[in-house]
Amino acid sequence: MSEPLKIKKPRGKARVISGKCIACGARCQSVCPVNGVEMSEQGEPLIAEDKCIGCVKCVKVCPAGALEMFYTPEELAIIASFAKHGTDDVDDEELERRRRVAAYTGVWVFIEQNDGEPARVSWELSGVGRELADTLGVPLSAVIIGENVDHLPEQAFSYGADQVYLVNQPVFGQYRTEPFLEAMCYLIGKYKPEIVLMGATGMGRDLAGAVATRVKTGLTADCTGLGIDDKGNLMQTRPAFGGNIMATIMCDRFRPQMSTVRPHVMPLPERRAGATGEIVTESVPISESDIFTRVLEVIKEKGGKNRVDVAGAEFIVSGGRGLMAKENFAMLEELAEELGGVVGGSRSAVDAGWLPQDRQVGQTGKTVRPKIYIACGISGAIQHLVGMQDSDVIIAINRDAEAPIFEVATFGIVGDLFQVVPALTERVRELKQPGNS
Ligand SMILES: Cc1cc2nc3c(=O)[nH]c(=O)nc-3n(C[C@H](O)[C@H](O)[C@H](O)COP(=O)(O)OP(=O)(O)OC[C@H]3O[C@@H](n4cnc5c(N)ncnc54)[C@H](O)[C@@H]3O)c2cc1C
Ligand code: SF4
Ligand code: SF4
Repeated sequence: MSEPLKIKKPRGKARVISGKCIACGARCQSVCPVNGVEMSEQGEPLIAEDKCIGCVKCVKVCPAGALEMFYTPEELAIIASFAKHGTDDVDDEELERRRRVAAYTGVWVFIEQNDGEPARVSWELSGVGRELADTLGVPLSAVIIGENVDHLPEQAFSYGADQVYLVNQPVFGQYRTEPFLEAMCYLIGKYKPEIVLMGATGMGRDLAGAVATRVKTGLTADCTGLGIDDKGNLMQTRPAFGGNIMATIMCDRFRPQMSTVRPHVMPLPERRAGATGEIVTESVPISESDIFTRVLEVIKEKGGKNRVDVAGAEFIVSGGRGLMAKENFAMLEELAEELGGVVGGSRSAVDAGWLPQDRQVGQTGKTVRPKIYIACGISGAIQHLVGMQDSDVIIAINRDAEAPIFEVATFGIVGDLFQVVPALTERVRELKQPGNS
């Protein structure tokens, strides 16, 4: 296999700056190693472009500063790329990659909504998107696709967006992969963002995968951290190998760089009341007849209003294998009720049939970020920690003082949960009595 062609830093050609030559006696001609300088009758140089090899000798020797190097626009682009990436040797493929990547700019957040109701994760992503955009020195844009969504740009601005791409058409009334895929790809093709963030929700996961496939780029799902490296690439951190390591994944060869982030992983940014920005209204060339799927009926999730939302709870009392039996969770329910919170659990508790799956916290369950997380009889396996370690306060109750849960705990209680939990519940009750605070 032949070696790829190496591209050298362009050297340019010498040229005369009009009116500056003082006819010093052809010093420029005398130093030229390729006989590239002829002298005119007035004693001024005529440089043969086809001979000049850009050695700069004539420029250096000229006492009047009458010579300079010049570059074609293409050579200037290559020089700019060298300056940015700090290397002198690149092959054709690398050069092409740099050109492709340089054409994309700006950070986008897809604003997920259902019947005009925005998903909180979109605003959480706006917060981290704002930080990424500021680091890169580019605008943060919110992408809003739907029907009757005119009220959402204002909210997007208040959560940090500089700009909104607004697509407001009846065909986007209910989420379906095809039209949303068309709309996202249409916008990406037209405006070329360098980063696209989506919530790792049912909708976000579906759409992000389809978009990344269509635009032929990489997608990192379920990121827990996002940052920018010294070359301006997105660093996407997420658990890997069953959660045993945290991997930072880069997509430096393709654009846009796409990530999904689960709800509650990123903090909700402060709202900036009255913030405004530019609204770019777009009409995507797609109609109902282009779409194969039809939404016949929307059936609300079983449980309706009574469904427990562990991911959104402010207080969570979680139980693990240390609870020993399903009926012992009643003890956690009592504490959770006193705190105005909900009961969650480890995968062991779910696998044992003590809790429904939607209560599981961790890598294959929910990511939570409550004000207080009380872990009872949970050892603190990495797969559990990734789902709760960003809670504001973590209280761990475990009889094993060496349990890893204590490494992330704000407060640790080494003891038997069957004694500690009822005592805690009692104390909370007491504190809630009138006159106590
Ligand atoms: C790919 C993959 C994904 C996973 N995803 C998840 C996930 O999303 N969520 C998750 O939680 N796990 C997940 N797991 C499982 C994880 O590795 C652990 O096995 C699990 O978290 C352990 O649950 P546990 O802490 O309840 O049980 P254990 O590890 O058995 O810990 C029980 C703890 O209870 C303590 N204890 C016992 N009795 C008492 C008592 N009377 N008083 C006080 N303390 C007591 C013990 O000291 C012990 O520390 C995943 C694993 C894999 C491989
Ligand atoms: S740059 Fe070098 S090769 Fe070109 S004209 Fe000047 S001396 Fe000659
Ligand atoms: S060295 Fe400079 S001043 Fe002398 S002839 Fe060449 S261009 Fe003119």
